Amino acid sequence: MFKPKKKLGQCFLIDKNFVKKAVESAEITKDDIVLEIGLGKGILTEELAKNAKKVYVIEIDKSLEPYANKLKENYNNIEIIWGDALKVNLDELDFNKVVANLPYQISSPITFKLIKKGFDLAVLMYQYEFARRMVAKEGTKDYGRLSVAVQSRADVEIVAKVPPTAFSPRPKVYSAIVKIKPNKNKYHIENEDFFDDFLRTIFQHRNKSVRKALINSSKELNYSKDEMKKILEEFSNTNLEVKNLINEKVFKLSVKDIVNLSNEFYRFLKRDKN
Ligand code: SAM
Repeated sequence: MFKPKKKLGQCFLIDKNFVKKAVESAEITKDDIVLEIGLGKGILTEELAKNAKKVYVIEIDKSLEPYANKLKENYNNIEIIWGDALKVNLDELDFNKVVANLPYQISSPITFKLIKKGFDLAVLMYQYEFARRMVAKEGTKDYGRLSVAVQSRADVEIVAKVPPTAFSPRPKVYSAIVKIKPNKNKYHIENEDFFDDFLRTIFQHRNKSVRKALINSSKELNYSKDEMKKILEEFSNTNLEVKNLINEKVFKLSVKDIVNLSNEFYRFLKRDKN
């Protein structure tokens, strides 16, 4: 008997309705090459293999190999990669869609790794609270760095709330199926690395004004507090919009406002250096 490992997030799906829901939401056809993170006992992998051209599965736990072997007896379009999904070089895999019931411990880093790599569509299962943070709007308590980092690069929606009874062993909390569609044309981000640094800096103080957040965490952007104060004095005189935005509380700014402000600030700092 296989004993699930809690530290690997091994809550296996047992309710086929949610397996179907995930695969249908991803609109899988025989043209699609799908990446799955986490084989488990293969319930999702099998449904994907039936519908897709090919399925890559990354699984860290080699003791699940008997389930992999059984699947491979029946399907010749499954390729298992034994390893840590956070370390595997995704550029070597030619997938266009991602479908997975993610191990909750790696939700955040794997989501960003996938978005960076790029794909047509992803349907991923997360803990419900995490999913709510992904889709949260400005001004709400769930709105934060994750919401802006994801929504600035993709359209995201929760397509189903999944109860603990859909899994074995049962997790303590609800889960959600989330659809992620990258959208490069939504916003222009002047410099991706700077944008990520900017988000990390301001969201360390989500209830303060952007100005105070940038001063308090100025080290994140490699400036002393005094330097940042001076920079912001000049920056806030750039135009009225900038002045208004940097005096607003961080969590009240929309994704669009944050992208705009980050772009303006990036250009301002670059101009300073030239
Ligand atoms: N897809 C299966 C299902 O829906 O029943 C399993 C989902 S289970 C929530 C997560 C799976 O991811 C487990 O099989 C676990 O061993 C695997 N896993 C955990 N951490 C991983 C990592 N860093 N890289 C790859 N797989 C990982």
